[in-house]
Amino acid sequence: MGIKVPITRPALGDEEVNAVVGVVKSGWLTQGPQVAAFEGEFAATVGARHAVAVSNCTVALELAMRVLGVGPGDDVITASHSFIATANSIVSVGARPVFCDVEADTYGMDPVAVEACVTPTTKAIMAVHQIGIPCDIVGILEVANRHGIPVVEDAACAIGSEVEVAGRWERIGKPHGRIACFSLHPRKIVTTGDGGMLTTNDEAFAKRLKLLRQHAMSVPDTVRHHSDKVLFEHYAEPAYNYRLTDLQASVGRPQLARLDAIVKERRRLGQILIEALERNPILAPPRERPNARTNWQSFPSHIRPEARMSQVEILQFLMDAGLAAKRGIMNSHQEPAYARPGSYLAPGSLARSEQARDRTVVLPLFHGMTDDEIGAVVSALDLLGKRANAS
Ligand SMILES: *Cc1c(COP(=O)(O)O)cnc(C)c1O
Repeated sequence: MGIKVPITRPALGDEEVNAVVGVVKSGWLTQGPQVAAFEGEFAATVGARHAVAVSNCTVALELAMRVLGVGPGDDVITASHSFIATANSIVSVGARPVFCDVEADTYGMDPVAVEACVTPTTKAIMAVHQIGIPCDIVGILEVANRHGIPVVEDAACAIGSEVEVAGRWERIGKPHGRIACFSLHPRKIVTTGDGGMLTTNDEAFAKRLKLLRQHAMSVPDTVRHHSDKVLFEHYAEPAYNYRLTDLQASVGRPQLARLDAIVKERRRLGQILIEALERNPILAPPRERPNARTNWQSFPSHIRPEARMSQVEILQFLMDAGLAAKRGIMNSHQEPAYARPGSYLAPGSLARSEQARDRTVVLPLFHGMTDDEIGAVVSALDLLGKRANAS
C-alpha cells in the first residue's frame, strides 16, 4: 500500500497565490517592501522589537554567532539532539560545538547539563526549542546569567509556541535570549519555500544583521533606487548575500496573519493523537511541561519501555498502514560529519539524546489535515495496539 498520510503538507491557498502574483507584477522581486512588511509583522507577532529576514535559519544562526563575536577558539554549548544545522552554524564561524544532553521527554537541553559544560572558553549557549516544544529557557537563562554568557535560541520550529515567564504567557522569539532564529522551510509551520528570521530587542544587533545579510552595503539598493540624488554606497566589512526575496516574503505574510488559527488547529489535532496514545500499549504520548505550550511542529510519541516491538518494526507497521511516520530527531555526534576527533566536545553523557533518537516515533500531524487523514492515523495506532496484544 502506498503512503496515504504524509508527515506534513504545506497549506497554502489563494491568498498566497495572489500575493506572489502581485509581487511578480510589481517589478521589485528581491528584498524590498514585502520583506520590510514581513519583518514588521513578524516582530509584532512574537513580541520582539526587531525582526531581520534572511535566506534560511542556518544562516540566521550563523549571523547570530557573528554579531555576538563568536569565532575561532570559542566554544558554544548546544544540543547534539537537533537537526545538524544547529551544530553546523557554530562550526561555520570557526567555533566548536559543546554538546550537552537533553531532558528525556521534552527533547530540550537540560539546564543542569548545560551548566556542567561551562568553561572559560564558553562564548555562547545555543538553546534549541526542538520540534516546537519550548526548552526550559527560564532554567537555561538562569544558568547563563549566572555565568554572564549570552543565549541564542534556535527557534527554527517554534513559531507560535509559548512559555510562561514570571506568570505571563509569551511567544518564543520575544526573544528570551539575546536573539532567536526561525526557519521558514516547508517542514516548519509557516513557510516561504526557504527562509529565516532573526528576532532581537537589541537595536545595534538588528542594524548589524541588516548590513551583514547584504554585503555590509551602507546604502541599500531600495534606497538608491528611489533616490533622485546621486548616491554612492560603501562596504564596511566583508559580508554575505543572505537575502530573503520579496517573492518569498509575500507568501509568508498571509500565513503569519493566520498563525493563531494554525496553532489552534495543530493543538486540536495533537489532542486527538494524545488521547489515542493514552490507550496504546506500544507508544506513549508526549509530555508538555506546565509552563510551556508547543505548536506541535512535529508530533513525537515514545516507545513504551515494556513494548516488545523495535522502532523499525513500529515504523514499518505504520508505513504498511499508509502513514509516513519517522524516527526521532537525529544526533549530530552520531553522524560522519562529526566523527573527526576534536570536532566537538561532550563533557557529559549523551545517553538521553541517543535514547530520544532511537525510542521516538514521529507521527503525521499538520494543519490542513483532513478528518479522514487524522482518522487514518488513529486507526493505525489502534491496530498497532491490537497487534501488540495479540502477540
Ligand atoms: C530546520 C531546522 C534548522 C534549519 O533551518 P533551515 O531554514 O532549513 O536552514 C535549524 N535548526 C533546527 C532545530 C531545525 O529544525
